[in-house]
Amino acid sequence: MTLALADIIAARRAIAGIASLNTPLIPSPHLSEKMGIGIHLKLEIGQATGAFKLRGAANAAESLPEDAPGVTCCSTGNHGRAVAYAARARGLRAVICMSELVPRAKVRGIEALGAEARIVGRSQDEAQVEATRLVEEEGFAQIPPFDALPVIAGQGTIGIELIEQCPELATVLIPLSGGGLAGGVAFALKNIKPTIRVIGVSMERGAAMHAALAAGRPVPVEEMPSLADSLGGGIGIANAHTFALCRDYLDEIVLVSESDIYRAMQMHYFEDRIVCEGASAVGAAALLSGKVRGLDGPAATLITGRNVDMSVFTDIINGRDVALGDTTLEGQAYAA
Ligand SMILES: *Cc1c(COP(=O)(O)O)cnc(C)c1O
Repeated sequence: MTLALADIIAARRAIAGIASLNTPLIPSPHLSEKMGIGIHLKLEIGQATGAFKLRGAANAAESLPEDAPGVTCCSTGNHGRAVAYAARARGLRAVICMSELVPRAKVRGIEALGAEARIVGRSQDEAQVEATRLVEEEGFAQIPPFDALPVIAGQGTIGIELIEQCPELATVLIPLSGGGLAGGVAFALKNIKPTIRVIGVSMERGAAMHAALAAGRPVPVEEMPSLADSLGGGIGIANAHTFALCRDYLDEIVLVSESDIYRAMQMHYFEDRIVCEGASAVGAAALLSGKVRGLDGPAATLITGRNVDMSVFTDIINGRDVALGDTTLEGQAYAA
């Protein structure tokens, strides 16, 4: 099975009514002036779950039979929220498996979306064992966070919208982790407009797809604390789809530092008046740090989510230090 543009067009119909479609594409006057070309922001922060992942989860849930016993996954982040929301919208039971180490606030966030939080063991791996058991013994469907065609097609709907909203677009920057978003969006963009330049952006600390593409195959990558926490995690050693899509459809991958992300979050807040999470700010971080060479406009970057820990966010806005695991990222007041 491979991806086709028709799957993405079909996804758009399937997810209408669950995910928000045609989310705003707004100009960023400050970034445009700094870069000397028009820069637009595609705002996925208005999705009901606060992040674009609802598109992929809604499309995956849509293809399940109405009498399915339930859906499960192991994420407490944006994917878990999306699965919880999409399942409830379809009248399906959702059981999100997580370890005892998950903070209470995240558990409550999942429960508030109508899902059952099943707390098992002290690691993500132990939680995964329970999700696998639900699939094998109780007939649940597992919705993967990125490496599944319905998920990739759902995320790809953003690509179709970008071209409709700004046909002249020359460059698109896409936050990149497992590559469901970048793979789907780049596939849609290049199929509709082959001349468009598509750039994946990851953080330096634990850039799994970048390491895999450099090695020519998926490789294990150490996960490290990052302001772009939603971009953490591997691409899966048995990756079936997103590795090949990113290899074939991304023109390049740019890596940004934690201080690049810190400054970009401040910039989106003070200039664009946007509250977004670190993963959303990597596109602006790549632009402002001068890491994108020969930029053609107009360009767009995806503001993928707003689910940021607000105490960390206000520390950043106020220029305070931020703890990243064992290290400290030194704060700096915003300067335009
Ligand atoms: C998951 C996520 C991404 C990256 O998506 P992938 O499909 O894993 O590459 C980017 N931004 C946010 C906010 C996310 O939650």
